[in-house]
Amino acid sequence: MLSMEVDKFSNWLIHRTGKCLVAGPCSVESEEQILGTAKELATCDVTLLRGGIWKPRTRPGSFEGIGEKGLSWLKAAGRATSLPVATEVAIPAHVEQCLNADIDVLWIGARTTTSPIAVQAIADSLAGIDIPVMIKNPMNPDLGLWIGAIERVRRAGIKRVVAVHRGFSTHIRHQYRNQPLWSIPLELRNLMPEIPILCDPSHICGTQQYIASISEAALEVGLDGLMIESHWRPESALSDPGQQLSPAQFAELVGQVVRNPNLGVASRNRESGNLWREIDEIDQDLGALLSKRMSILRQIEAAGADDSRISGKTWANICSTRLMAAVAKQLLGNGESKPGECDSGCTQTEARSIETRKWLLRSKTSPCGDSVTTERPA
Ligand code: PEP
Ligand code: MN
Repeated sequence: MLSMEVDKFSNWLIHRTGKCLVAGPCSVESEEQILGTAKELATCDVTLLRGGIWKPRTRPGSFEGIGEKGLSWLKAAGRATSLPVATEVAIPAHVEQCLNADIDVLWIGARTTTSPIAVQAIADSLAGIDIPVMIKNPMNPDLGLWIGAIERVRRAGIKRVVAVHRGFSTHIRHQYRNQPLWSIPLELRNLMPEIPILCDPSHICGTQQYIASISEAALEVGLDGLMIESHWRPESALSDPGQQLSPAQFAELVGQVVRNPNLGVASRNRESGNLWREIDEIDQDLGALLSKRMSILRQIEAAGADDSRISGKTWANICSTRLMAAVAKQLLGNGESKPGECDSGCTQTEARSIETRKWLLRSKTSPCGDSVTTERPA
């Protein structure tokens, strides 16, 4: 196995604000666009200029990036502003082209992190090369895949590895394009404390609207910096137009969130803020799930089918499976949820689950008055 060493993050990519600030357009579109954007951003504490060259778009036919010729435009914009430059690589050929063009930092995008084979191919192409690599979380909320990608790149000998939290795609509809699910980057921090973590509020939010509050939250939970999409004319951007900030908006955000965090857009209790943020997210999810459940029930009712009225047997089944699941998750009981021995030698959780089972077997009627067959829950 090759080196698993890391270089201290404070020795590289850190601005005098103490944070790493990556900014630049979603995509490099033209020489003029990347140079113009870079010049405006260079005055706003940026540490690293970003710009996508190959864009992994969900549907074919959208702008899929300018391709290899854009690498020299990106590098020239970096040279003109004395900024190192970064772009996304999705296959080994991209790595090779970036190295030829003297790109300073590479990143692996969320869609690529989702595929261990693709990550391994990139890692193999990096063996023996000393370049920083940023690894975005996978699309789905799977910490294991994220960690696996980091390990693959580190095993290739890369010592400067950064994780980027860009939110997760889930089935729940909410105000963000991708849910932040803060517990996942925080767990990554617990498991790999040596890996710096940046937050990419642009891809979490999907609109300009929430970028400041997500940036503030990221810094409050202790992440090491931000990657923010910024374009000199956001409204005419060829990819992700709605979420890109103009350099002036980016400067305002840095002033508000990074330089003067106490003037932040949302004032929260810093001690318990992280945990309350988690509760906010969970409550939003619960609300969304309950409303989805309600709309399905309305559809069943509207269909007027013979079985639209719940039968006693179905009701008993719903009660028993849901209650057993709640017991298993320690949601029921008197709050003494620590496992321990009871008189009969089983754990408290098991004891409560046996009580619940007995209770279920005793209940004979459903709320709609039908008699219920008392089957043992499966
Ligand atoms: C990007 O940074 O432009 C990008 C495509 O990001 P992600 O991989 O997070 O979707
Ligand atoms: Mn983008």
